[in-house]
Amino acid sequence: MSCAAQSATGSLTTGERMFRVVEELYPICRSITGNGVRETLRRLQREIPLQMEEVSTGTPVFDWIVPREWNIRDAYIKDASGRRIVDFRKSNLHVVNYSVPIHRRMTLAELRPHMHSLPDRPDWIPYRTSYYQENWGFCLSHCELESLVDAEYEVCIDSTLEPGHLTYGELFLKGESDAEILISCHICHPSLCNDNLSGISVAAGLAQHLASQPRRYGYRFLFIPGTIGAITWLARNEAAIGRIHHGLVLAGVGDRSPLAYKKSRRGNAEIDRAMSHVLRQAGREFRLTEFSPYGYDERQYCSPAFDLAVGRLSRAPHGEFPEYHTSADNLEFVSPDSLADTLAVCAKAFEVLENNRSYVSLNPKCEPQLGRRGLYRAIGGSSDAGQQELAMLWMLNLSDGQYSMLDIAERSGLPFATLDRAAQLLVDHGLLRASPAIPDARSKKKGLAL
Ligand SMILES: [Zn+2]
Repeated sequence: MSCAAQSATGSLTTGERMFRVVEELYPICRSITGNGVRETLRRLQREIPLQMEEVSTGTPVFDWIVPREWNIRDAYIKDASGRRIVDFRKSNLHVVNYSVPIHRRMTLAELRPHMHSLPDRPDWIPYRTSYYQENWGFCLSHCELESLVDAEYEVCIDSTLEPGHLTYGELFLKGESDAEILISCHICHPSLCNDNLSGISVAAGLAQHLASQPRRYGYRFLFIPGTIGAITWLARNEAAIGRIHHGLVLAGVGDRSPLAYKKSRRGNAEIDRAMSHVLRQAGREFRLTEFSPYGYDERQYCSPAFDLAVGRLSRAPHGEFPEYHTSADNLEFVSPDSLADTLAVCAKAFEVLENNRSYVSLNPKCEPQLGRRGLYRAIGGSSDAGQQELAMLWMLNLSDGQYSMLDIAERSGLPFATLDRAAQLLVDHGLLRASPAIPDARSKKKGLAL
């Protein structure tokens, strides 16, 4: 990299840096396996030190089997004059992902069942896959489809579907305790920005941010192909699942809709409550939805044998926005500000998890005399002095060892960070004693072999 490029990089905002990752990954043709995934992970290794893992085709993973590896070099439909009327080189969405190879001439009538378009959105190319059924096909705009004349066409998909590997990326940031927070995103979609690349770039940005922070928890980042990747990871790491105390799936976090948090299967896990609290305190529109067994990889993490406390952060409702799984989920559909905002909210929620603990009042018989200790109106001139005092009163009242600071934040309606500051002040003055922030990792989850 030249000096000029370095200084240009240095002046980028967090959102712009994450957007640049999206831009650079956008042209790559990814799938659930293959070189597109490897190229994506290698590009991410310039941002964060993730490990690339390879799992052989045919490996049994619970009820599934790691599939054959798919790679593609080129694909097209040529008309009689030899002109490419559908060209993979212009958009990788033109080929049904996981198409088996084909090269022959056929009539429009023969070709037609293998073509997919969106009549309601005639200018957009749909995104289609056929992972687990051998098939081939092309996707094109409805306008392009309508313009095809009844003639013979040369159809070519230069792909391979052969024994190989499923590839995923993993990064672990060690914490003081052996308890972990899981952050997972999918990396299996080709040129789609919100669905796929936004989660990847925010996860990488979070890893960079957390690497420089003190951490009680370890943070495990997974960059995996959807469904089969999560199933494969869980199958390979079943023995260590008990270390995961909280988790978050990041998917569709770069568009301009308000943030939406989908609760874990447990419904009232600490991550659910931390996310709800942070979103509520931000004082702007957001959506909270209950768990359902549909969506992204929370389906696997929240399957009954694991039942991990994993929620999902998104923006536009999954599958319900018109751009979903189309060529309109492009670079214009995501914004640097949305990426940065998602990162900031995640960082805040993790701060809550990091600092959530209960306290015991060392002066529980009536209120201690705060004025004598310089605590009443101690923060003179501070605009939130009243809120700080209120926070101290809440902390003193509910610190009987039973209530966590998140409980107190929910009950008082005060921001977690304000209560945290008040608690520190009270600890410094000998009025509160903290209990450990994170219970022992091994006592947290019952019923699973460790
Ligand atoms: Zn998708």
